[in-house]
Amino acid sequence: MKVKIKLAILGHFPHSLDINKVKNWASDLFEITEVDKHNIASDSDGLHWEFLDRNVEQNLPARGNSDVLIAFTNVAIQDNYFARRFSDNRVCVSYNGMTEILNYNDIPLENLLLRVLYSVSFVYKRYGKRLPEMSEHTNFTHDETRGCIFDMDGIKSDVIYSTYKPQLCSSCIHNLTNNPVAANRISNNLINKVQMELRKLDKGVYYQLADWIKKNPICAIIVSSITAILLNVIASFIFERIK
Ligand SMILES: [Zn+2]
Repeated sequence: MKVKIKLAILGHFPHSLDINKVKNWASDLFEITEVDKHNIASDSDGLHWEFLDRNVEQNLPARGNSDVLIAFTNVAIQDNYFARRFSDNRVCVSYNGMTEILNYNDIPLENLLLRVLYSVSFVYKRYGKRLPEMSEHTNFTHDETRGCIFDMDGIKSDVIYSTYKPQLCSSCIHNLTNNPVAANRISNNLINKVQMELRKLDKGVYYQLADWIKKNPICAIIVSSITAILLNVIASFIFERIK
């Protein structure tokens, strides 16, 4: 059974995020049931203009008939986190400070939201169709950055490694497939399918090419030289035909 997720845009969202790309993302793990937009009715109450948990909780819409609600917002949330869990299977993702990191590295903003959709869906299944609240002791993330969707990313700039072609690391795969409760174990089939899906969390072709050129400057010069010669030959051929 796919995890049914309701998405909510919380407050004014000034960044260019293609919500249709997220809405239509094909996954064997989750499906988007609806996308809603809700205003924020209060001001920040933290010392650094952030919204503290109780404040966010009061602004979060209801989950409705979906399994999980994931709201995303531009405002900063408690402790400078980029995602926090709330009551009744609800999560709030903050793009505050993340947009700059993603834009600087040419990573589409949708990738962060999709990464959270994957990790939250696995957590929902792992804990027996519920999301543990923040007050509960959990250990599904790891502080070490491994390019895995369960990277903690305490240092926010490390998020670039889990938003561009991320993978589940071997220890997370082990934890998901060897849950002490048999009913909550994730099948190896699903893990394999999700690993394939996660590879599609990439950049546009242009930025992938730019990355390749940065990594292989000599090859790039050779390829561009050969292309220039070929173009010259083609141009001469066309010129001769016209003449
Ligand atoms: Zn991992």
